[in-house]
Amino acid sequence: MRIDIATLFPEMCEAVLSASIIGRARKAGKIEICCHNIRDYSPDRRHHRVDDSPYGGGKGMVMQPEPIYRCYLDIIRQSLSLPHVIYLSPQGKVLTQKKALALREIPHLLLLCGHYEGVDERIIEKIADEELSIGDYVLTGGELAALAVTDAVARLCDGVLSASECFEEESHMNGLLEYPQYTRPERWEGMAVPPVLLSGHHANISAWRQQQSLDRTRQKRPDLLE
Ligand code: SAM
Repeated sequence: MRIDIATLFPEMCEAVLSASIIGRARKAGKIEICCHNIRDYSPDRRHHRVDDSPYGGGKGMVMQPEPIYRCYLDIIRQSLSLPHVIYLSPQGKVLTQKKALALREIPHLLLLCGHYEGVDERIIEKIADEELSIGDYVLTGGELAALAVTDAVARLCDGVLSASECFEEESHMNGLLEYPQYTRPERWEGMAVPPVLLSGHHANISAWRQQQSLDRTRQKRPDLLE
């Protein structure tokens, strides 16, 4: 799978995507992630300007369509494929695990990050296949949202997580939250690990976990059970 991120702050994305599990998977060639600086595509060779004031007046700046469009065309030229374009926006549908699973099936994604007041509406009409939000709040830019989408999707791709880091039983995979996890020491600050987990009885452990999963979903996120 290939994920391209078009942003004014590629270094911000690279820093996160070079670390930990995703960084390791990129190095191993399990997933290809490329960050592009939209400023490099500005027709303004002198100042590399990418934004201007909004028509109709009002505060802030709006990202111009042309640098984004040139960046998009260059990604197609480099990759020889037509990406599924997602504009990160507080106006989009909210990202869920189900959506991440659907995006995993798409071989090439392009995540477009806005900044300032956002992007000129015409570039959304021209290239975006959909808009995605990471929650009902407003960020200063789309980078954190693009990183959240990239991480959520990439970890579902073959070979990105090791066998011991399997995602199948995690929260939201089957509509429930995951059961509680414990590790050494057996007693900590007067609190003991539930005895069933030390029993070595796999069927009992599995039944306990299933029940815990249901109980904590009912307690923490009853909306998931509705
Ligand atoms: N003026 C826009 C509005 O009211 O809908 C908000 C612009 S926001 C300050 C700047 C950029 O941050 C957006 O273009 C978008 O790319 C990104 N952004 C902000 N909040 C987001 C969210 N909840 N999910 C995804 N992207 C977000």
